Amino acid sequence: MPRYAITTFGCQMNVHDSERMHEVLRRAGYTESDDPRAADVVVLNTCSVREKAEQKLLSEVGRLAKWKQTHPEMVLVVAGCVAQQEGEKLLTRSSGIDLVLGPDNIPELPRLLDDIGLGAPPLVRTVFDLEAPRFLTALFDDGGSAPTSGDAPPSPPVAVRAPTAYVTTMKGCNERCSFCIVPYTRGPERYRPSAEIIAEIAGLVSAGVREVTLLGQTVNSYRDPSSELARAPGASPDDPDESEFAALLRRIAAEVPGLARLRYTSPHPRHLTPSLIEAHADLSVLARHVHMPVQSGSDRVLKRMIRRYTRAEYVARVGSLVARLPDLSLSTDIIVGFPGETEDDFAATLSLVREVGFRGLFGFKYSQRPYTPARKLADDVPEAEKSERLARLFEVSEELLGAHLQGLVGSRQRVLVEGAGKEGTNAWSGRTERNEIVHVAGAEGLDLRGTIVEVVITRANKHSLQAELSEEARAAAKPLPVVPAVPVDTPKPRAAGERRSLPIVVAGGG
Ligand code: SF4
Repeated sequence: MPRYAITTFGCQMNVHDSERMHEVLRRAGYTESDDPRAADVVVLNTCSVREKAEQKLLSEVGRLAKWKQTHPEMVLVVAGCVAQQEGEKLLTRSSGIDLVLGPDNIPELPRLLDDIGLGAPPLVRTVFDLEAPRFLTALFDDGGSAPTSGDAPPSPPVAVRAPTAYVTTMKGCNERCSFCIVPYTRGPERYRPSAEIIAEIAGLVSAGVREVTLLGQTVNSYRDPSSELARAPGASPDDPDESEFAALLRRIAAEVPGLARLRYTSPHPRHLTPSLIEAHADLSVLARHVHMPVQSGSDRVLKRMIRRYTRAEYVARVGSLVARLPDLSLSTDIIVGFPGETEDDFAATLSLVREVGFRGLFGFKYSQRPYTPARKLADDVPEAEKSERLARLFEVSEELLGAHLQGLVGSRQRVLVEGAGKEGTNAWSGRTERNEIVHVAGAEGLDLRGTIVEVVITRANKHSLQAELSEEARAAAKPLPVVPAVPVDTPKPRAAGERRSLPIVVAGGG
């Protein structure tokens, strides 16, 4: 059987695309290899949102191309945003690439590999599916179409790789933030019918998934192309920022009662409308955490970024959400050193971080991206200044997170256990509904994976919490199955493709 390896760079969307590539390839008869050098097909799923990610990709391509000189049978595929952005140019920039594959063309991967196997020259396939959008799904069938709720119950995915899963609701982006290449690499917004989304979530839940994260570049601008959603409470037809996202959340909660937790990423602040706030207040399945990218705390910079909200509007919207759900955690994305950002602008960002009280933050130094409107602005903040601002931003963020985590010591929390913790520690790892990462000890011999357990927080680490399983949870937990040659007092060995630690992915979109 031919073997493949996939390396993923970038955001949640890319992690999700890679998961779907795994399924497409496994269904076509390929088996996974942990080592790219032992694989017949190597896929690099790329990110071009930041210059650094693109550079990393090109050096990886260079390394593999060198390896290929002595192993010419290996097929090298470059997929994702850099593939979409560069297309044919990649073939001239880097030797050794056999296939350049855009995000919308993943379903065609096995067929294109067959063509290459039959002697086709290097191929480029980067066509947006504007006419008939296809959405990659865990329930992906061989014909490429997702099941709808009217179909027979969907067959389970090829393999449920974790108790958490991503489900795509829309793709592309109609915003034109001046720094962002996503509208170019992912195309305009296209939405998936609500029935398909529900069917995929129901199938995942029946196969053992507990938590679903809805994915979209501006996930909360969702509109149902099949017009099947009733208007959500609080939704005003006259509000230009209103969407059908709240209605979608309500339908998921009503039709998939077995789902334990529902998250979404990445929303845009403009679409944090009253109807979405109402949905958060009403639906207990929604996690008490929202990642709401703000990018800057300075109105001057927000305007140059073409974010289409002011600082005051952002604060008012997240303030309304927190007023309804005071225990909700907020996190965000921030870019430092955007063209023209002064020390005063940056000070406004720091003050915003404190004012909102973000409990998590992805911070980035601005880098010019091809095809973006901001290329016309001088990249005038010196690199050293960008680094210094980023360090100061992280200092404030860590102070806020540290105080928050410290305040949880001694409390009881409910944790969805996602998998085994560090090897040799007999610990498990998971997240609270506010998204704090928790390492759970005191569970020797117990099988906690995929369960929601009550824990007592014993210590705050820099970015996570240490906890002990509560007595009640210990009494209710199942023992680990006895597996030959595996000591029963350690968490389960890693299943093929299972992540050993909780993933840290770079925020993107929104
Ligand atoms: S930052 Fe988000 S909202 Fe803005 S263009 Fe990029 S993907 Fe769209």
